[in-house]
Amino acid sequence: MKYSFKFLSKLEEILGKEKVFTEPKDLLVYSYDSSSATGVPLAVAFPERKEEVVEVLRLIAEYKVPLVPRGAGTATTGSAVSHNHGLVLSFERMNRILDLNLEERLVVVEPGVLNGELKRYLKKFGLFYPPDPASYAYSTIGGNVATGAGGPRGLKYGTTKDYVLALEVGLPGGKIFWTGPFTLKGVVGYNLTPLFVGSEGTLGVFTEIVLKVIPFPEKRVLLVSYHREEEEPLEIISELLKSLITPASAEFIDKTTLLALLKNKRLELPDKGVQSLLFLELDGEEGMVQKELKKVEDLYQTKGIFYHKAESEEKIETLWEVRRGVSPSVRMLGEKKISDDVVLPRRNMKEFLKRIRDLEEKTGVYVCCFGHAGDGNFHVNLLFGPKKEEKAKALRNTILKEVLNLKGTLSGEHGIGYVKRSFVAWELSSFQLELMKNLKKMFDPDNLLNPGVKIPF
Ligand SMILES: Cc1cc2nc3c(=O)[nH]c(=O)nc-3n(C[C@H](O)[C@H](O)[C@H](O)COP(=O)(O)OP(=O)(O)OC[C@H]3O[C@@H](n4cnc5c(N)ncnc54)[C@H](O)[C@@H]3O)c2cc1C
Repeated sequence: MKYSFKFLSKLEEILGKEKVFTEPKDLLVYSYDSSSATGVPLAVAFPERKEEVVEVLRLIAEYKVPLVPRGAGTATTGSAVSHNHGLVLSFERMNRILDLNLEERLVVVEPGVLNGELKRYLKKFGLFYPPDPASYAYSTIGGNVATGAGGPRGLKYGTTKDYVLALEVGLPGGKIFWTGPFTLKGVVGYNLTPLFVGSEGTLGVFTEIVLKVIPFPEKRVLLVSYHREEEEPLEIISELLKSLITPASAEFIDKTTLLALLKNKRLELPDKGVQSLLFLELDGEEGMVQKELKKVEDLYQTKGIFYHKAESEEKIETLWEVRRGVSPSVRMLGEKKISDDVVLPRRNMKEFLKRIRDLEEKTGVYVCCFGHAGDGNFHVNLLFGPKKEEKAKALRNTILKEVLNLKGTLSGEHGIGYVKRSFVAWELSSFQLELMKNLKKMFDPDNLLNPGVKIPF
């Protein structure tokens, strides 16, 4: 590669040798994320300060080296991997909590801070950062912002986008700027902050992140209910929302995912007729939670639904572990996996589930359809053996088309990355794509930031 030698020696000059990996065995570690896409980078750099990031951004622009920002590498779409032998810029060592302002209720962090670490830190002050991807214990805030990560609490609290107040962003060439003020309100000029949330490392590199935080809820209750009709949890969610109860989370486990959990011994069922589960968390001020809890328990009793209830933090977390065990458990159903995270209008979720089941029966490919049903977000995982690969790929296309037919969207939180970019034009118009192409050119004229990711050019 023509730029390699000089570029690498300058990179080592800027950062020092101990902050640059070039050994094949080290590069291999950074050639994966949580998707099937892989790519060995030219080098991995570990800046410790924003000034070092700026220097690296200058250097990549000078040598036209593609760059992939990387947090913990838990992306499920190939967006944290270099697909053209470029530089991986790891934020692992920029992991400091820089400031907590109780009066403003905001926290300033470096991008490499783990979501779980931030949660633990804030809890000491009675504060709460709600976005909770199932990977929260080991994914970074930088990665969460760049993917627009969601999680079970999205139903009541929204997703990462609802907590990012401002971002400090670096661009190829070394320009560094803030997207907006740190205030809770601000309408001067266009709002640049949300443009970068979910941009998957393609528009700029975050060097500091300002997040809104809120008080930790006084009371939490988790109900795990067991259903004899697969679609019943979806009906319950709909009933609760219509009666103006907003659970903190409403997570659905469908029939096929249940099978995977059972195979992986993550769960025991009260009886064999159970077809699906609902994880329903209520939280907030004690009196309000008790009132809502009574309504939910009355509903369950009327319908003859069996459930477990957890009120202590410890028991709540133990039950949530079952839900978090879903991603590793689905692997029990097949050697190969294709995963999507589609979103549907809630009113169309039941119909979607029905169509999925018909397709599952016709093709013999396992289709898990679990997740954040409270906000219409299903994780659709296809599990199969090598012989069914072609069938599974065709099935995936059919499923994505069904999502669009039912007025949904192809990704709610995991992003597009590398593996799903060919589907983007199925959902967006050529006008929307042209606007996005021009936007990308404005921030990254040489297409150096995560090329090939997010949009199909
Ligand atoms: C078991 C499991 C469960 C998961 N559950 C959920 C879930 O419930 N909800 C959900 O939303 N996701 C989930 N994910 C996906 C993944 O964890 C999230 O997308 C997460 O936000 C990625 O964070 P990360 O630190 O690993 O980032 P990475 O994977 O390293 O990177 C993700 C993206 O962010 C970009 N990026 C990273 N740092 C920066 C930076 N400083 N500046 C600019 N761009 C940057 C990268 O280039 C890449 O495009 C799950 C993944 C796994 C493996």
